[in-house]
Amino acid sequence: MAAARKIQIYDTTLRDGCQSEDVSLTVEDKLQIAERLDDLGVHYIEGGWPGSNERDAAFFREIKRLKLRRAKVAAFGATRRANVRAAADRNLQLILSAATPVACVVGKTWDLHVREALRISLNSNLEILHDTIAYLKKHVDEVIFDAEHFFDGYAVNPDYALACIKAVADAGVDLICLCDTNGGRLPHEIEATMQAATAAVASPLGIHCHNDSEVAVANTIAAVRSGAVQVQGTINGFGERCGNANLVSIIANLQLKLGYECVLPEKLKTLQETSMLVYELANITPHLRQPYVGRAAFTHKAGLHVSGIQRNVRTYEHIDPAQVGNDRHVVLSELSGRANILYKTREFGVDAELSSAQIEALLEELKRLEGLGYTFDGADASFELLMLRTLGRARDHFNFVSFRVFDDKWHEDQAPFSEAVLIIEGPDGQRTRNSAIGNGPVNALDSALRRALIPYYPSLERMQLVDYKVRVLDDGAGTAARVRVLIESTDGERRWGTVGLSSNVVEASWQALIDSVEFKLHKDDLKSRVRPRTSINGRKLNGAKLAEARSNGAKPDETPSPGRSHRANGGAAAKA
Ligand SMILES: [Zn+2]
Repeated sequence: MAAARKIQIYDTTLRDGCQSEDVSLTVEDKLQIAERLDDLGVHYIEGGWPGSNERDAAFFREIKRLKLRRAKVAAFGATRRANVRAAADRNLQLILSAATPVACVVGKTWDLHVREALRISLNSNLEILHDTIAYLKKHVDEVIFDAEHFFDGYAVNPDYALACIKAVADAGVDLICLCDTNGGRLPHEIEATMQAATAAVASPLGIHCHNDSEVAVANTIAAVRSGAVQVQGTINGFGERCGNANLVSIIANLQLKLGYECVLPEKLKTLQETSMLVYELANITPHLRQPYVGRAAFTHKAGLHVSGIQRNVRTYEHIDPAQVGNDRHVVLSELSGRANILYKTREFGVDAELSSAQIEALLEELKRLEGLGYTFDGADASFELLMLRTLGRARDHFNFVSFRVFDDKWHEDQAPFSEAVLIIEGPDGQRTRNSAIGNGPVNALDSALRRALIPYYPSLERMQLVDYKVRVLDDGAGTAARVRVLIESTDGERRWGTVGLSSNVVEASWQALIDSVEFKLHKDDLKSRVRPRTSINGRKLNGAKLAEARSNGAKPDETPSPGRSHRANGGAAAKA
């Protein structure tokens, strides 16, 4: 492999990525993404089209206040219109008004577009290209030309496509980015066309691919191997139709597989969090199977694979997930064997203390629960709790006493609402009664549970449910069928899944809710390395004092676990 060649990363998530039909970012979102991209080490951030809307104009104003360390901000626009001098063209003026160090303009290179879309002569277009670049070069440090439809244009009229890029090269453009705008080309075509373009102009070349043939990443790699020095794309492949080339995969492939340098090596491991941030701000569920950064990307389920990775992770993994900031996961299922259980217990840091009888017991319990319809795929947290309970290590943070849920509907044309009343016994032995209204019974119950527990455990304030799935298990049993509820929760730092099962959807949801809360509290206990306390110096504490005592870091008394009474009516282990 040759010495690491540097590849410029040009991110257009904030412009082309926002062409996705389901992506809409506020100015604040865009600024946050820009900061993350700068930290990752991308070289260019295309902020938008200053002429197209007020939001993009606001972004260009605000971005100047951020002190970006590495990335240069680019403003995007199109070549001047026909029959207008560049200096008098409104869109070019708007690009200049963004006052960015880089301008990127898109122009025609496919004769079909010149004739049919612009309806001008082929020569007039060459003048427009030359004139636009020459004008911008007088006012902006760096000018990039996006050669729209270059590969399609080259396929039908190679001489004209090359004449177009020669026109911008003559005008002094800094880089010509060849675009597969319709996303219809395949890697071998990209390669051959790149070579022809390289022979025709001395300017550095870049590549901008769309994913309509699902090879945008492969096309980008082919172009880099044929000499492209700049890659344009978006985080997670957001973009119009099937999206743009996914920069996350491109950066990982170029850097880890081919030895190019795209970002600083120590920043590669922030790829996963960059991907997640963009999903979160765009309010789009992360793609489970996304290469490199998806949750399933390094998830192993079959027992054979799990025993393989325990001997050597390379047996079933193409890279170490940590290199891109991802984690290895092992899921449990009816396919699981001892290897999966052992892997899990090791992951939770208890393997050293497990006897083989305990492992067998755990495996038996798991198989029994799965026979009943529980699944621990996507419910790692419930499994961890099951394991701790089997080992006698689980401690419940409150005792369940009772709940009541009622649904009210008052008018045919109005949505019903639900109210939940919940009684629990807190860690201080006090019984409290809390009620809450919700848009459905589970929502009401969830609110009442939080209301009851937040005084004791303020960290629950940050926890929220992010996904709730109900699946009917017994086909043909009609409304008497059992349902399985999977809940995904987050506290902003981690995500975890829990499961509940019952013929009553509220009860199944309750089980999953309880596990979710218990898991969060269990992790908090481990994190603070402070044993949970219910009294200090023998004094019983109420919730507020308890919270205060925790934050003061006072030593707790050793108090017996509250026991498992709240699970007696419905926890996974007890219920089944
Ligand atoms: Zn594009």
